[in-house]
Parts: sequence; C-alpha cells; structure tokens
Amino acid sequence: MKIGFIGLGVMGRPMAGHLIATGHNVFLHRVKEVSQDLVTAGGIALDSAAAVAAASEVVVLMLPDTPDVEEVLFGDHGVASCLQDGALVIDMSSISPVATREFAARITAQGADWVDAPVSGGEAGAKNAALTIMAGGTEAAFARAKPILEVMGKRITHIGSAGDGQVAKVCNQVIVGLTIEAVAEGLFLAARAGADPARVREALTGGFADSAILKVHGERMIDEAFAPGFRIALHRKDLGLAIDAARALDVALPNTAMVHQLMGAAIGRGDGDLDHSALIRNLQVLASGE
Ligand code: NAD
Repeated sequence: MKIGFIGLGVMGRPMAGHLIATGHNVFLHRVKEVSQDLVTAGGIALDSAAAVAAASEVVVLMLPDTPDVEEVLFGDHGVASCLQDGALVIDMSSISPVATREFAARITAQGADWVDAPVSGGEAGAKNAALTIMAGGTEAAFARAKPILEVMGKRITHIGSAGDGQVAKVCNQVIVGLTIEAVAEGLFLAARAGADPARVREALTGGFADSAILKVHGERMIDEAFAPGFRIALHRKDLGLAIDAARALDVALPNTAMVHQLMGAAIGRGDGDLDHSALIRNLQVLASGE
C-alpha cells in the first residue's frame, strides 16, 4: 500500500520504520530533513505535505499539537489540497477532540475517510510496535485503518465516532499526569525521610501502588534520566485539552488543573523539553529553593 507519513519525531520515526519494514511504500515528510535510516530502509522523502498526499492512498499524521495538524492538513501545500479520491487520513497525534471533529468533517466532505488514532505507550511502545491505540471514526473508516494500526500497536480499540479517540487520549493523559505527580511525591518523600527511593520503589512494585508509571517513570526519577521520552511541554498541552473540555462541560478537574500549573512552572524554569518524569524537580525546588 502507498502510505504517507508526516511528523517524524520521537514517535513518528520508529512508527514509520515499522510501516516500511512491513513492505509498504512509505512517503515521508518532516520540517527539516528526513532521517537517513528511514530513507536507507526504503522510505521516500518528499518536499511537502501536498506531495505526500498526492502519492498516498493513506496519510498518517504524528504531529505535536492542534495548530500543526491544521497547518499540515489545510495550510499552503497541505494534505487537503492534493488528497486522492477515496483516501484515508489517520491522525495519530494527540490533539483537541473539538478541532478533530471539525477536521474530520472537512476531510470527509472531500470524499475521504477519517480516523483519529492517538496512542499511549511512549517511545518504547513506538519502537516495539506495542502502542495502545484509541480510535474514532466510522466503522468503515476504522476497518480500513485497522491493518495499518496493527503494524504499530498491540491494543487497538474503536471508541466511537470521529473525535472519540482523542477524548480517550485526553483521559489517558489526565491519569498518567496525575500518577507521575503522585509517584514523584512518594519517591521525593522517601528520599527526604532518609529511605533509599530505589528500595521504596522496588517494595511498592506489586502492591496497590504499582503501575507502569511507578516502574518506568519512577526509575527515571531515581536515575535522573530525563532525556525525553515524552516532553513536559507536550504533556501540558494535553492537560490543557482536558481543562478546556472540563470548562465546556462545566465539570471540575481540580487535580488536573494543579498538575497543569506545576507543568507550567517546570516549563518556566526551562524544563519543558525534559521527560515528564522530571516533574519531580518541582518538588526539589519547592523544598530547597534551588
Ligand atoms: P516530536 O516533537 O518529537 O515530533 C513531532 C515531529 O513533527 C517533529 O519531527 C517535527 O519536525 C514534525 N513537525 C512539526 N510540524 C510539522 C509540519 N508542519 N510538517 C511536517 N512535520 C512537522 O513529538 P512526539 O513526541 O513524536 O509526539 C508526537 C505526538 O504524539 C504528540 O501529539 C504527542 O503528544 C503524542 N505522543 C507522544 C508520546 C511520547 O512519548 N513522545 C506518547 C504518546 C503520544
């Protein structure tokens, strides 16, 4: 199949690599250069999103934020300007559910199919083709997308109509963000109380406090291994989407709002491009003033 892939960052690069390795013809576009390993593996680098769309039956997006997706779809030399008849657009970025419904309506008005399919599982999930994928779109569009998603992910769930995949992803980010803060506070307290946080983490693994966050992010906190991974700046974007939804629905998400603020403080201190496990550094600053 001819598949376009736009957004070749931490996540998109290994995901596109799996599509190439499966034998698809993959057309690639990113802002700067396409990484040489993807081209060596057989990927074809093109100059614009429009050129990628013109060459592809299916166009996959893995971009940072809502304005990036809007620009790549509908900007100058965007995907929509050259979409093939009956094409399928799969947006795997984590973006606004509200904007997604509008993008889906515009794309389907051109006779194409739309699936929003944001992911969870991080860089490791992308590298190991083990992502959890939450999809929104019609049954028919999801049926078309599923074999492609299966190349990149393990648990693939069709949640509902266009935008519902993004709603599920926002919920995921609330749970992950608040759990990171909880793990950070627990391990920070352990260290300040004089107990070895690595031993505390080990002891809690397997009890009710266990989680993938305790295992993976807890280890990163202990090792101070904060190269991303998932950048704090991107996670704040996702909690902002949750807060927007809460405002629109007149519901309170008080702890989401607090972690959103703590992420803002981390970004203000220059930590925005660190992995979200670096949220523990807020606690160090609060405790020591440094
Ligand atoms: P990233 O910043 O590493 O990569 C984004 C890529 O998009 C970059 O290569 C950038 O050059 C490219 N890009 C931006 N604007 C573009 C444009 N106009 N045209 C073409 N390319 C453009 O981000 P990432 O970590 O790979 O995340 C991508 C998406 O996946 C985000 O929405 C993020 O929230 C989500 N996500 C990330 C993780 C993670 O652990 N990193 C996990 C789950 C979901």
